[in-house]
Amino acid sequence: MISVEEALEKILSYVEVLEPQRKPILDCLGQVLAEYIYSTIDIPPLDNSAMDGYALRAKDTRGAGESSPVYLAVVGEVAAGSMPTKEVEPGTAIRIMTGAPLPEGADAVVRFEDTDEVNRKSSGGDLSQIGILRQAKKGLNVRNRGEDIAKGNLVLEKGRVLRPQEIGVLASLGRSNALVIRRPIVAILATGDELIGVDQPLAPGKIHDSNTYTIAAEVSRYGGVPKILGIGRDSIQSLTEKIGEGLDADILITSGGVSKGDYDMVKDVLAEHGEIGFWTVCMKPGKPIAFGMIKRMEGKRKKKVPHLGLPGNPVSSMITFEQFARPAILKMMGKEILAKPTIRAIIEDNIANTDGRRLFARVMVTKRGGQYYAAVTGPQGSGILTSIAKANGLAVIPESSKGVKAGDIIDVQMLDWGEEQGEEKMLPIVSIVGKSQSGKTMLMEQLIGEFKRRGYRIAALKHSHHRVQIDHPGKDSWRFSQAGSDVIFVSSPGKLAFIKNLNHDLNIEQIVPIVGPEFDLLLVEGFRKSKIPKIEVHRKELGNDLLCSPEELSAIVTDGSLDIDVAQLSWGDAVAVADFIAKNFVLKARTVPFYSTGEEG
Ligand code: AMP
Ligand code: MG
Repeated sequence: MISVEEALEKILSYVEVLEPQRKPILDCLGQVLAEYIYSTIDIPPLDNSAMDGYALRAKDTRGAGESSPVYLAVVGEVAAGSMPTKEVEPGTAIRIMTGAPLPEGADAVVRFEDTDEVNRKSSGGDLSQIGILRQAKKGLNVRNRGEDIAKGNLVLEKGRVLRPQEIGVLASLGRSNALVIRRPIVAILATGDELIGVDQPLAPGKIHDSNTYTIAAEVSRYGGVPKILGIGRDSIQSLTEKIGEGLDADILITSGGVSKGDYDMVKDVLAEHGEIGFWTVCMKPGKPIAFGMIKRMEGKRKKKVPHLGLPGNPVSSMITFEQFARPAILKMMGKEILAKPTIRAIIEDNIANTDGRRLFARVMVTKRGGQYYAAVTGPQGSGILTSIAKANGLAVIPESSKGVKAGDIIDVQMLDWGEEQGEEKMLPIVSIVGKSQSGKTMLMEQLIGEFKRRGYRIAALKHSHHRVQIDHPGKDSWRFSQAGSDVIFVSSPGKLAFIKNLNHDLNIEQIVPIVGPEFDLLLVEGFRKSKIPKIEVHRKELGNDLLCSPEELSAIVTDGSLDIDVAQLSWGDAVAVADFIAKNFVLKARTVPFYSTGEEG
């Protein structure tokens, strides 16, 4: 038996990125750009107005206000799509629409709402003049030429996956087509004497072929072009013929006929025509899988087409498609991220894993109170399609696990999330542990201070062996608690507190979602039994032994020196400890700049 990873690695080693192709931009959605896109123009091409209003000289508005309007002579009007015919001279303004080029001489736009235009119009006033009701700075409501894209700049790099917004950028650059990695043509063949087409009435002993449709839809979803070959019968002749029809594709995917049944002859036919490997993959559902390279002639040149033989059971075939065919198709399309996004969720049902294989269980994931929960969607038989139709994720129970209990934290592959979504970013966590009196709390304090100086947002967590007492008899919160509320919040200006009554300790994974996502580091005191990175504070006066075993520790902070193979930092040097944590656990400080947006419309 080989692992899921080994099987995937082998498959990927045989498939190659396809060649690029130039196409109309609208046909490129989801494809990978195969050229660098430089701009040959400035966008916007001219300074223009971000608002409907009056183009004027900022200088002329000095001192303007609601009760002290500055009056300017209106010398013209300019709409989007036309060029101004007049200049703005001192003491004048030109009425301007959003997107219209800024007239010569003007350096700001004051929007209608900040003028007396409406009043003037309703009172039949003189429209050859306008009252400006606010002072304008140079550049107010002006979009500068080239502020989005400057001529000559690199706008999109090779390797970008084209989403609607990139397609819009291409259009704004005046490009009607782009060079992208070609979509793979995926030949799809169902096998079995029991199968009949969707448009045929059922006959005794027969079932409708559903795999063709699930697989074809999957192929389209991931950007490939399905080529449906139909149904191959369980005979050497029929299969040989059908497989032959699929050999001009970039990959052939069959379903059924790869297990140990008497009529399972896909493997026999394939063994005739190329190299083939039959694998029992350590997963459930979906143990038997075939993979090989089928020979074909292209003119006088020999070519090889990868073939992936999925199991016949409808759910097995979809799950194995997700694990193996999906990444192969994505690789052919030039994509770099092949893994399905995985999240951590609390499982709401018990799941047993009896035969030591990696179990993919169909679950529905929901998010409640900042935490993901996964509930099993129904019977898990490998022929039961409706329970995968109800699912939006696959809970992954490792081969080493005998199963999970409701409340455990598990990994879930999110079936409907795009690969670009990436892995869920975990909040970096480091715990400071140590014997009592070793100075853990003092080190925590120093680290918090040090990280604050470095601009981090810090969350601190302390494990207490005693039930915390922060509520006081008589307080409203106490009364709510007495009345039976399970959790009580007190919200006040600048501070939120909540008290949750529990009958057991939470583990770190359950606490993290409550902490919230907006921090750069969670510093923990205690929790030495959990699997988070730990740094132990050691004082020689408390003995030469440690609280944790060295393998569990990332470092020790000590005033002595211990003969063990763990990084040692000196006691009293919190800056060095902070450096160690920053380097090893905090990937990067969040330094995403915020841009203000000037306008709407
Ligand atoms: P096999 O791997 O060919 O032994 O098929 C295993 C099970 O999957 C059998 O119950 C088949 O009837 C079923 N099966 C195979 N191919 C399909 C298909 N295209 N659509 C629906 N069920 C299928
Ligand atoms: Mg069969």
